[in-house]
Amino acid sequence: MTSPHAGAARSYLLNDRTAEGYRRAMTSATERVADRIRRADRPFSGVAPERLAPEIAAVDLERPLHDHAAALDELERVYLRDAVYFHHPRYLAHLNCPVVIPALLGEAVLSAVNSSLDTWDQSAGGTLIERRLIEWTAGRIGFGPAADGVFTSGGTQSNLHALLLAREEAQAIAGAAPSRLRVITSAAGHFSVRRAANLLGLGPDAVVTVETDDEQRMRPDALARELDRCRRAGLVVMAVVATAGTTDFGSIDPLPEIADLCAQAGAWLHVDAAYGCGLLVSRRRRHLLDGVERADSVTVDFHKSFFQPVSSSALLVRDGAVLRHAAHHADYLNPRRMAERGIPNQVDKSLQTTRRFDALKLWLTLRVMGPDAVGELFDEVVDRAAASYALAAADPRFEVVTRSPLSTLVFRYLPPDHLEHGDPGRELADDANLYAREALAASGEAVVAGTTVDGRHYLKFTLLNPETTLDDVAHVLDLLAGHAQRYVDDLAPLAGHAEATHVHA
Ligand SMILES: *Cc1c(COP(=O)(O)O)cnc(C)c1O
Repeated sequence: MTSPHAGAARSYLLNDRTAEGYRRAMTSATERVADRIRRADRPFSGVAPERLAPEIAAVDLERPLHDHAAALDELERVYLRDAVYFHHPRYLAHLNCPVVIPALLGEAVLSAVNSSLDTWDQSAGGTLIERRLIEWTAGRIGFGPAADGVFTSGGTQSNLHALLLAREEAQAIAGAAPSRLRVITSAAGHFSVRRAANLLGLGPDAVVTVETDDEQRMRPDALARELDRCRRAGLVVMAVVATAGTTDFGSIDPLPEIADLCAQAGAWLHVDAAYGCGLLVSRRRRHLLDGVERADSVTVDFHKSFFQPVSSSALLVRDGAVLRHAAHHADYLNPRRMAERGIPNQVDKSLQTTRRFDALKLWLTLRVMGPDAVGELFDEVVDRAAASYALAAADPRFEVVTRSPLSTLVFRYLPPDHLEHGDPGRELADDANLYAREALAASGEAVVAGTTVDGRHYLKFTLLNPETTLDDVAHVLDLLAGHAQRYVDDLAPLAGHAEATHVHA
């Protein structure tokens, strides 16, 4: 006999008897989100963690509400009210995109059906759909028929996976000890390269960074020198990681020259296109990725420049045979006799086992909108970033670092006359920019990012929303200038800047 309690618990399972309740619950959740999205007049409430933490701590997880609506009401308070909304035109901070509705349909379907993409017997058509999308992406890159790949949780995992394959290839060919392996990337490359090297058990000196030019692109002459230095020192360059869209500057390393150097040196070329992959569907800017087809492996983050919800990412390889380096056989999952019978599985290609059917989001996006429409959205934000650069560069209140070929803008507010005060003046500029970013976020009017360039603090916009107008950009620049100047006038004297001593707020 089952207890009445067990009967109540079972009513929460999605099945033939509860399908109608599922439909109603999903509709009510969708309505709440739609309402929030409609009403959001700013990207963020500006809430501080100290204010939100007690609300969340006060929720008694041992005492359920037994009601979808009540739990969603509570969720308004603990999450929805104060979440950061990327669809808002004044969210300008990180590489988070507004999402397209066809992808959200995919998300709703894939989580309810709950396919797992490790094996055919947990996904059936899901496996074939993912394979079609890998083929499609490989085609856009310009890879040949031997290409393959797999969806991943993000660029970090894709980069780790690529470097694992590169390490195995290098060791198969050169038989080098891990301590003699090197990975070369540029100073503007992503930190996940260093983390991957660590996880792969390479030595602390494994990642070598080479200089960038004025536009934050890897310098081929510096790469050539480093390849040569490694060769003469008896080190094995297991991979060169070029970045197609650096996180801070959107700069694209010169892929053809780098590919030539890698070919000469026999080094694996990985292209980290986590950000720049949107160019694969751009009709006006696809040429910026020329040379990517010569890579051995490529990281693409659909959740950055294809307007997909997190997570949706993939690793592509020019020669699918290399994926075997990550394959393991488990009798319960992918016995060899299945492969012999031609039954497809993806677990042989992935670092994950149970894995979301994230590919479905891209599938529905392509089937509803088509690739050109996605590319148009990305082109539009790149256009807007170019106009924003022109705006900020012509504004004497700001110093702008470089013109991004993609959609970032790195700049800083310059307090009038600050340079006349030497180092204390530069520190004042640093503090004023740090303050402006925080004050802006606390107001919720806009959210922007920050970074450092040559040890100084800068502000950063990452544009990924075609709804962000040039007026929005101009307005946020004014707000930042206002906050920064207020710091200089009112707060810096209190912090002791007048005496040129440096105190952090
Ligand atoms: C964002 C980013 C990554 C990491 O991707 P995640 O999806 O955040 O794991 C790697 N490389 C570059 C260049 C990126 O911009």
